[in-house]
Amino acid sequence: MAKDFLKGAQDYYDVVVIGSGLAGLTAANALAKQGRSVLLLEQHYQLGGMATWFKRAGGHIFDISLHGFPVGMIKSCRRYWTREIADSIVQLKNIRFDNPMFSLSTTFDRDDFTRQLVEKFHVPQEQVVAFFDAARALNFYDDQNQTTGEFFQKFFPGREDVIRLLMEPITYANGSTLEDPAVSYGIVFSNFMSKGVFTFEGGTDRLIGLMKDELARNGVDVRIRSDVEKLHVRNGKIEAAVINGRTIKCGCVVSNANLKSTIFKLVGEEHFDRSFIDEARAVRLNNSSCQVYIALKPGDHLDESNGDLLFSSTAPLFRTEALLSRDVTSRTYSFYYPRTRPGSDRSMIVSSTNANYSDWAGMSDEEYAAEKNDLIETTLAALEAYIPDVRSRIQYVEASTPKTFEHYTRHIEGASFGTKFEGLAVSRAIPQQVSGLYHAGSVGIIMSGWLGAVNYGVIVANDVDAYLSGGRPASVESFAS
Ligand SMILES: Cc1cc2nc3c(=O)[nH]c(=O)nc-3n(C[C@H](O)[C@H](O)[C@H](O)COP(=O)(O)OP(=O)(O)OC[C@H]3O[C@@H](n4cnc5c(N)ncnc54)[C@H](O)[C@@H]3O)c2cc1C
Repeated sequence: MAKDFLKGAQDYYDVVVIGSGLAGLTAANALAKQGRSVLLLEQHYQLGGMATWFKRAGGHIFDISLHGFPVGMIKSCRRYWTREIADSIVQLKNIRFDNPMFSLSTTFDRDDFTRQLVEKFHVPQEQVVAFFDAARALNFYDDQNQTTGEFFQKFFPGREDVIRLLMEPITYANGSTLEDPAVSYGIVFSNFMSKGVFTFEGGTDRLIGLMKDELARNGVDVRIRSDVEKLHVRNGKIEAAVINGRTIKCGCVVSNANLKSTIFKLVGEEHFDRSFIDEARAVRLNNSSCQVYIALKPGDHLDESNGDLLFSSTAPLFRTEALLSRDVTSRTYSFYYPRTRPGSDRSMIVSSTNANYSDWAGMSDEEYAAEKNDLIETTLAALEAYIPDVRSRIQYVEASTPKTFEHYTRHIEGASFGTKFEGLAVSRAIPQQVSGLYHAGSVGIIMSGWLGAVNYGVIVANDVDAYLSGGRPASVESFAS
């Protein structure tokens, strides 16, 4: 008989959280701390969503999305998780760029970027200061028709090299493009520039393990392999969730699943206004990613001069289409030294590229396997430019594609960062459509990534708490910096 992953679950919870991405985990934890009974459901056998890891024979552990996040994560983890989690966040000090326009190494903060822009790129100091101040000042109330490209042209007209330096890492970090609203760029860029790029010491497995312990301490009922199939709505109000065929009643639902799946699949469009459905349908998904995971032989220590993150590109110019193309010219390498997991003797390299789902869908199994092999081969060939003997040092290598992300997280088309910016308004409007239904998860640039997801989880937990107590919801804007 199949194992019952819901064995012992209650028939009613104040809150059902669908999905254990960072937003789902954080919302569940905050609500349990506020005294609510919480059921957290994850369809996968592991928690974390995109913030996850996998193990392979030989003791290799690969992180999927532990590449870098802004300093704000320390404050958010201290406030909404534990001191131990917050204290394990450390800075990555050597971020490198290498492309036909420039090669440089930076601590990736405002002081160092200012110095490099003035000394290396010969931009007048006042212009750099004006740019940083304007980026910091961008907020939700600004004209959202101004694109990031237009914003750059105001300060650095014709300077494709400067724009590449300022934009390439943010495109990598959240898939945003020159065509996206400037506000979304300004907030994320300024968050990074405040103190640089940070990581979690001990790896994603340790982080999620610590979060799981904290959820247990706060009484969250956590269930893996628990697939939410449907949500029941009655008289405009959420009533129950159907999980692995069992119906569990609840006062509220927080969906951490993909925004569009939540609306169209879990609830069904018949429960929403026509105009809302039109708006939801128009929300664009974000692009997906490919990764190549490379483990060196145990005890083989990578030279730290490789840096922590390397934004590498052979494309002569910075272009969105080039970043997404199957003909890969841009790769971001994360170098993981033994210090990533103190006590370990492993060095890993993960190469990431933005990718379109459509380029990987619809292949036969043979074609798909061959294309994955090609991805590995071309990545190793590109990596040889930096580590010439890398092939002889490798013990294990594997690749993932947009289909892999779709499979493990159920994001439509494997979208790495959920939806584009317009998804945020739709996500926030859901409770006005269906009472007791909330969405907390990657929607566009600000409310995705590790920090965005954690903060969005807190915002929505506060909304839910207010709803269950009959109070007023909090605003998103207070978390956007
Ligand atoms: C390759 C890659 C690299 C990245 N690098 C970085 C980085 O360096 N820095 C950074 O800050 N961010 C990075 N990110 C983004 C970051 O990991 C995500 O934005 C963030 O983790 C998303 O959190 P989330 O709360 O939106 O949920 P998600 O991680 O999207 O998780 C949603 C969860 O819901 C579950 N679920 C869905 N449907 C159901 C259902 N019906 N029933 C039960 N469970 C369900 C899924 O299984 C999943 O666990 C990266 C992402 C990718 C893909």
